[in-house]
Amino acid sequence: MFTERVQRFDLNSGCELRFVANNFSDISLELLNGYAEIFGTELIPNQKYVFPAKFRAAVFSWTGGTIEIKGDTESAYISSESTAMVVYLNIHATLEKLRKDREASGKDTGVTQRGPRILLVGPTDVGKTTVSRILCNYAVRKGGTPILVDLDVGQNNISVPGSIGAMLVQKTADFVDGFERNMPLVLNFGHTSPGENLPLYEALLKALATTMNAEIEENPAAKLGGMIINTCGWVDGGGYTCILKSAAAFEVDVVVVIDHERLYNVLRRDLPDFVTVTHVPKSGGVEQRPRHIRKIARRENVHRYFYGTSSNQLYPFTLDLSFDAVVLCKIGAEPLPDSCLSFGMEVEDHRTKVVALEPSLEVKNHLFAFSRSSNVDANVLTFSVWGFCVVTEIDMEKRSLTILCPQNSIPSNILVYSVVTHLDDQLRR
Ligand code: ATP
Ligand code: MN
Repeated sequence: MFTERVQRFDLNSGCELRFVANNFSDISLELLNGYAEIFGTELIPNQKYVFPAKFRAAVFSWTGGTIEIKGDTESAYISSESTAMVVYLNIHATLEKLRKDREASGKDTGVTQRGPRILLVGPTDVGKTTVSRILCNYAVRKGGTPILVDLDVGQNNISVPGSIGAMLVQKTADFVDGFERNMPLVLNFGHTSPGENLPLYEALLKALATTMNAEIEENPAAKLGGMIINTCGWVDGGGYTCILKSAAAFEVDVVVVIDHERLYNVLRRDLPDFVTVTHVPKSGGVEQRPRHIRKIARRENVHRYFYGTSSNQLYPFTLDLSFDAVVLCKIGAEPLPDSCLSFGMEVEDHRTKVVALEPSLEVKNHLFAFSRSSNVDANVLTFSVWGFCVVTEIDMEKRSLTILCPQNSIPSNILVYSVVTHLDDQLRR
């Protein structure tokens, strides 16, 4: 008879159980007694949590606890290396103190103060996204509502790859699905690395910061909650400039460098004195993800955007649109050859120019953002977007295009190109 594999793990305080589910089937996990959390979200004792095939995480315990896993694991082991979590908890404590101090001084002056803003930086695969999740979770568990900002255009946790965004966090993260994507503010960059268009990336950073600064004036709790800002793992050359520009745009109080001592030293030299720069270790459990795995993660992210997750499914629509019903555009024009510039002529930065795009077979399978701008002008660059669609078919003869769209009508007829492509693998509806 078929019997399910059952494993029990006794976690001492300060230890974590790192597990990876097998490649083919779900596993279930239960906290039998004691206390445990996954990346800052508490497990409720005696409740079975189901994790999909290949799922990877760590169950950490501050005080000790017993975990039972049913089903095959690819790996499961206990690590007693507790330094990283203790350091992350200390960062949380520092942020919490700043929140309290600012709350008190806000009460004295009658003006709500901005909560602390923290920028998480470091090379790829050091756990930046995980630390941003832990810090948001801890803030929420203290009754706060922080804003999670994700500036990583490669692996974005708020919207599709190629975008940056911000959202208010009011609930701890779901173990599998992460944070609820609650009316995020999203800007379309259209590339998966900032280096593809640095002037545009910088313009978007500033636009996101400015819009968020205005929005939090309407929401004192969010203002006081502060911002936890995740970045991408590009830390050299242009990537380093992006870190400095991000710190400046969001006027951050703290920069946390994970696992990169040289980066820590140059940031201490280059950031103004009022910015606290700290260096923290990475957790030994963080997975190394080669290029092809990142590509798969991006595809899954787009799929999730349209179809949701298994616990929260979404049903996108397939819409046929005439070329006349939409205006396609993209950001970045071809540079003018030098010979076309007369002496002393200002070179308008072609990389941040909004230009019209004729529908062609080349846009098939590309993502497009629905712009909030009502005209094809400079606003397309910096206005947030309603959302995204993917062009699934182009019929040049009938002059029509077919899109996969989260809703049953288009929220805007201005569609902004993204180099990100996606092959829709689902049935038409
Ligand atoms: P990127 O460079 O892609 O932005 P990152 O620095 O943000 O990577 P994370 O995404 O936080 O790194 O972590 C990479 C992977 O390692 C994730 O799948 C995460 O769930 C896993 N991970 C993080 N910490 C641990 C841990 N302590 N034990 C086991 N797995 C972990
Ligand atoms: Mn990340």
